[in-house]
Amino acid sequence: LLVADDVSKSFGATPALKGASLQVFPGEVLALTGPSGSGKSTLLHCLSGILTPDSGRISYEGRDLSALPDGERSALRRGAFGFVFQFGQLVPELTCLENVALPLRLSGVRRRQAERSAGELLARLQVADVAGKRPGQASGGQGQRVAVARALITAPRVVFADEPTGALDSHNGEQVMRLLIAAARERGSAVVLVTHEARIASWADREVMFRDGAADTPAVSR
Ligand code: ATP
Ligand code: MG
Repeated sequence: LLVADDVSKSFGATPALKGASLQVFPGEVLALTGPSGSGKSTLLHCLSGILTPDSGRISYEGRDLSALPDGERSALRRGAFGFVFQFGQLVPELTCLENVALPLRLSGVRRRQAERSAGELLARLQVADVAGKRPGQASGGQGQRVAVARALITAPRVVFADEPTGALDSHNGEQVMRLLIAAARERGSAVVLVTHEARIASWADREVMFRDGAADTPAVSR
């Protein structure tokens, strides 16, 4: 579905990725692990089209992302990809329900229908009770569930989650990850998740370890 092929990316003199390759298959849950600074976040940003690699290729359904016109690339990001950030990054002025409905509203779905879908997903993620509250009035764990709902509401083909539970205690973090994985599976969305926690990585279908700017796994099996 989504392929990184020999991707390199430097920030000034600092190489973040050195020939990283990775495949994401439809519907799979893929965990990226590895030491701090090994390039996990940078790869996620390249895969999702937020960053452009210095060399190498990212392709989505066989189409080279960097060859797409900017407009098409951002349409793809909006339609096919979802994101959960480490800190929710919800819109503080909107209610939780409106935050979750927002991606649907932006793609032209009517308010009533968007908010009905958003309400159902919040219930699925066990946070129906915060629907009418602003994100600032929700707890950290509730806020992250709302962020998960917002990422999944469009049933994206790929959800990117960069340590989405990093700011939560381990019990809450595990709960949020379980719900994210289950809800993504129900929608047929693939998940690419970065985590430091071995327990969370063990729930993925596949784990790829990063080391020094590239995936360690193929190197080991070669
Ligand atoms: P962590 O587990 O700590 O989140 P990571 O594996 O996600 O680490 P990256 O954030 O991808 O690592 O960083 C890889 C390398 O690139 C590091 O050496 C980092 O300092 C550098 N780097 C990342 N982003 C930038 C940036 N915007 N500007 C400069 N250097 C950067
Ligand atoms: Mg990171």
